[in-house]
Amino acid sequence: MRRTHKRRRQVIDPRIRARVIKKWGNKCWLRLPGCTGAGEEDDHIVPWSHRGVDSVANIRRACKHCNSARQDRVLSGYGATIHCVIGPPTADLIGYATDYMRYDSVMVAHSEFARVLSCDDDELAGTKAVRLAAALAWDAAYRQLARTQTPLDVWLIRTLPRSRSHPDMLAEWIAFDYDIHVVDPGAEQVFDTVDNAADEQIARQWYAMGVTQASVRARLAQRHAQLVQLGLRNGTTAHDDSLEW
Ligand SMILES: [Zn+2]
Repeated sequence: MRRTHKRRRQVIDPRIRARVIKKWGNKCWLRLPGCTGAGEEDDHIVPWSHRGVDSVANIRRACKHCNSARQDRVLSGYGATIHCVIGPPTADLIGYATDYMRYDSVMVAHSEFARVLSCDDDELAGTKAVRLAAALAWDAAYRQLARTQTPLDVWLIRTLPRSRSHPDMLAEWIAFDYDIHVVDPGAEQVFDTVDNAADEQIARQWYAMGVTQASVRARLAQRHAQLVQLGLRNGTTAHDDSLEW
């Protein structure tokens, strides 16, 4: 996919590129963690692999780092609409998500992968091997669903919004304008109810991040304003826009 994209990129009409820069500017549109800010390459909003065309509407400038780190993930709302539910251990993330999910939503959750892998054996589900397998399954499911052009309603559920391959997953989710929910019953309740050392450590990591719904909402609002300027969102709410791609 990358190779095709690269080959295609070299044949973008320079007149289209010039119009893209004139209309949308020459700064990186993606703003992923590690972004240099510079418009170094042409990036298709709807990926070329999804038959996204070489048009002023569908191309924005991106830095080399982001263009490569994007891996054809799309803005929420084109293809899948992506919701994320995060919170410390013992928070009922799945229960929360279930209240909002549609009958045809897709749910991606570590605990569900672990449950299926261990055939409902709680002890087995808690072993390191099964937990690791569940984490890899989560990553693979995310990678696939974040770039699908199928209009799925996807719910990503996890405690810490980071992994080995995505150390600042929360910033990436904000860049792609996902619908992010923070479910936090409060440190006191969480530390009272965690019943094992692994979860206690995760709870400490969670509270060290200082992530709240208010802080996430503020970051999403800032990102939304950037996307409006880039012609990729046009309303005042993040998820009801008709997109001009
Ligand atoms: Zn960038």
